[in-house]
Amino acid sequence: MINSWKALGVTLASFTRKKVTAEYPKEHLPVDERYMGFPALLWDSSRDEPFCTGCMVCVRYCPTQCMKAEMHDNPKFASGDSHRRKIIETFEINLNRCILCGICVDVCNFDAIEMSHEHELAGRGRNDQRVDLPQLLAMGRKYQTETGWKPSKPNALSPKEKEAQAAAAAAQASETPATPRPAPLITPATAPMTAVATASAAQLLDPATTVRPAHIPPAPDMGDSQDKEAAAG
Ligand code: SF4
Ligand code: SF4
Repeated sequence: MINSWKALGVTLASFTRKKVTAEYPKEHLPVDERYMGFPALLWDSSRDEPFCTGCMVCVRYCPTQCMKAEMHDNPKFASGDSHRRKIIETFEINLNRCILCGICVDVCNFDAIEMSHEHELAGRGRNDQRVDLPQLLAMGRKYQTETGWKPSKPNALSPKEKEAQAAAAAAQASETPATPRPAPLITPATAPMTAVATASAAQLLDPATTVRPAHIPPAPDMGDSQDKEAAAG
């Protein structure tokens, strides 16, 4: 009898307790910030194009081989508006086969793919979970908006930005007045060498005017003066 009253007390107490469950699918509980849902492709707003270059690294590393990607030449690189020579053209992930391992995110060198918070993609058909490039980008943009995602490193300069930077540097250099070169410092130790360095080529070739540093003794007389005296006598 006492146990029955205890059980009734527990039941009555649970009426006043805050609910920890939700009536899915009418209600959705928020997912954790680090929740790993389906992979999604991210959008580079500064260039107005995807981060993905279609390099296929993630495709090669995917353990379930559920990804496909093709790249093409980036028209924005040709016009100088983007630093990406290649850009993704088609991308497909079969989310039915994806095991949410996150390897594609780890191996991507371009911050182009993230495990989004997307986890409700139920369907009835065999291929209903094959998502293409626009769908992957839409998932990525939603994830970026919800989480305030930022790339880990800034973009490289585009050809137009490089040109502008070079022009600005050239303009700055032309505005700066040329600094006069300081006169060479001549000391007693460096004077002989300075004299040799500043002598003209003619002086150096003419024995009569050869500039000789003070510390080098004159060449010994090899008999020319005796011959001259004998000839005079
Ligand atoms: S998501 Fe990353 S690794 Fe995969 S193709 Fe795009 S750039 Fe390459
Ligand atoms: S999370 Fe894993 S299984 Fe899914 S696409 Fe990426 S690498 Fe493949």
